[in-house]
Amino acid sequence: MAQRVAVLGLGTMGGGMADNLLKAGYKVTVYNRSPEKADPLRRAGAQVGSTPGQAVNEAEFVISMLADDAACRSVWMGEQGALNAMNRGTVLIESSTVTPAWVGELAAAAEKQSLELLDAPVTGSRAQAAAGQLTFLVGGSAETLARATPVLKAIGKEIVHLGPTGSGAKMKLINNFLCGVQIASLAEGLTWIERSGLDRSTALGVLKSGAPGSPLLKAISARMEAKNYEVNFLLRLLEKDLTYAEQEAALADVELSTCHAARERFQQAIAHGYGDADMSSVIETVREDKRRR
Ligand code: NAP
Repeated sequence: MAQRVAVLGLGTMGGGMADNLLKAGYKVTVYNRSPEKADPLRRAGAQVGSTPGQAVNEAEFVISMLADDAACRSVWMGEQGALNAMNRGTVLIESSTVTPAWVGELAAAAEKQSLELLDAPVTGSRAQAAAGQLTFLVGGSAETLARATPVLKAIGKEIVHLGPTGSGAKMKLINNFLCGVQIASLAEGLTWIERSGLDRSTALGVLKSGAPGSPLLKAISARMEAKNYEVNFLLRLLEKDLTYAEQEAALADVELSTCHAARERFQQAIAHGYGDADMSSVIETVREDKRRR
């Protein structure tokens, strides 16, 4: 008989993940704070819980894909939260990008209830979530990961086991620190190109085919050029990741000065109203800078 998986959080990422679990034949229950986001999944065959607790009580696996530590705390541990409603032995999969400290707190609470936890944040974005092509960065025991692997394989193309609880969360912050710095530097570099008299497309071609030409630079520069800020990754969520990265690196006695500078660019963009646009829109405040001075 098909196992039941609950998905908490149906934003840009969680919606695609739940859809792929349905397509893989799992019984799926979903919960989202704003209930209308569950409608397409209900039509596709998912059950919908009106509270996190209601969504998880028959599930063997529960995946959380929420904005940040505060959202996760509220959905797992708040009134009518998921944690108290779960059966012994259920596996919690925290896939949100959160702090290792939150993962530790959730793991301790789970253990008290004989529940197992994996931190399993993802790389990949809206398209990869929709296509079941995410990469999971996993922390937790090998035994728990073995149990959860078929579920993760229904959503992702790759599973990387990084070590004990918290290792996935740590790796994800390091990953997004590098992404955030590259996007902020691209915003400044592309604005410089636009004011330099160089032909923009020739100059970008040099960057794309040369050493700086990462998949991220290629994708984000296309959005910046076209001013197409349809949301793949909310700008305010990347600012959150850079905040968490700075805090976490400080615990390892590393000062992320480039992260700090990039974060200021994203904070400036939020102050100018781009928090709910795609992260690539960070270039607009750089483009506007001169006019404001
Ligand atoms: P999103 O579209 O903004 O979705 C966020 C989800 O969190 C929504 O379900 C939202 O509910 C819920 N939420 C926010 N605050 C809440 C609160 N206080 N209480 C309860 N629910 C709350 O974000 P996303 O892009 O799917 O990202 C989800 C997570 O994955 C984030 O941690 C993000 O950093 C990470 N991530 C994103 C990407 C990407 O490319 N988008 C890639 C990798 C990792 P409502 O619908 O009610 O607002």
